[in-house]
Amino acid sequence: MQLEAITGAVKALQPELVSFLEEIVNLDSPTEDKELTDRVGDILQQKAESLGMTCRRDKQSDFADNRVCRLESKGKSPRILMVGHFDTVYAAGTTAERPFRVHGGRATGCGVLDMKGGLAIGLFALQALREALGEVPLPVTFIFNSDEEIGSPASRKLIEREARRHDLALVLEPGRQGPAIAVARKGVAIFQLEITGREAHAGAEPENGINAIVEAAYKVLAINALNEETAGTTVTPGVIRGGTKPYVVPGRTTLSVDCRVTDAEEQARVTAGIEAAVRIAYVPGTRTRLSGGFHRPPMELSPAAAAYVEKMQAVAEEVGYPLATAETGGASDGNLTAAAGTPTLDGLGAHGARAHSDEEYIEVASLEGKCRVLAAFLARLAEAE
Ligand SMILES: [Zn+2]
Repeated sequence: MQLEAITGAVKALQPELVSFLEEIVNLDSPTEDKELTDRVGDILQQKAESLGMTCRRDKQSDFADNRVCRLESKGKSPRILMVGHFDTVYAAGTTAERPFRVHGGRATGCGVLDMKGGLAIGLFALQALREALGEVPLPVTFIFNSDEEIGSPASRKLIEREARRHDLALVLEPGRQGPAIAVARKGVAIFQLEITGREAHAGAEPENGINAIVEAAYKVLAINALNEETAGTTVTPGVIRGGTKPYVVPGRTTLSVDCRVTDAEEQARVTAGIEAAVRIAYVPGTRTRLSGGFHRPPMELSPAAAAYVEKMQAVAEEVGYPLATAETGGASDGNLTAAAGTPTLDGLGAHGARAHSDEEYIEVASLEGKCRVLAAFLARLAEAE
């Protein structure tokens, strides 16, 4: 393999990569603002088209259009799906207050880590392969989605469908401490319980009241008992609201519960446990309505994915940017591709810290390092066929 040609091309492209990253970081792309965020989608699409990709817009009314860009190749397999979101958690106007800056080996800016750095790494890895080998040696589909920060409600189906049509999913979310890539992520749920009792004067006719707060208290304890530390399961009753005045028996309480699990078995156990707690009326006469559930299934490390991880680690060693592996409680679109049955490597983006804060930064050197690993990995996969 022409490793040297690839790493040389990646190196030569760094100034261009950094100025591309600056351009997209300095454009606001809050999930909820379609018009602003579509501008970033347009730039990504143009860049993908300049690399010979054919793009189509997956039209959305509430969010920016997702872009699906495909690259044909003489190589036939494995078919690669790259996934990255271009929405950020920052409101319109934030990039003007905190523009892209490079200082002391770090770059700061809105979404520089989560995950515009990763988008730049993915695109420039493909460009480096074109320049070093004359073409990207594998068929690649790149999904740029616009709603990951709120749980990918409108891009989920697209991602799952495309995942099933590909052999390997590469997710360009931020790298983990180490530096490491993410090989397992917890599944995440939010459950909402709406408990109804009956209001009554607490002094004059308490016997006519059905206390929704007391019912909620029983349910909180039952649900909290679903925690299972050794399995890595967390169940957190996080928000509770109920009651009006101290002298009124409360007629309504709402409860929100965050759950995180490492495997499908725990997902089923926790779901069943919550459903059971909902069915029981500890305080006779109360009724409970359940909504929500697991919006991200757990991303587990399958044997097929583990084999790809090993290959990537070997290549990373060879190109001088060794990578460890990590598990994380945070979810990403990698949860969706993995649950669709597609081996998934995640955390292939830049390294840094403080995502979702005004101190978000990346280590600039990680751009070149991860770009080198990704490009060499794709070349190595093609060679093995
Ligand atoms: Zn992200």
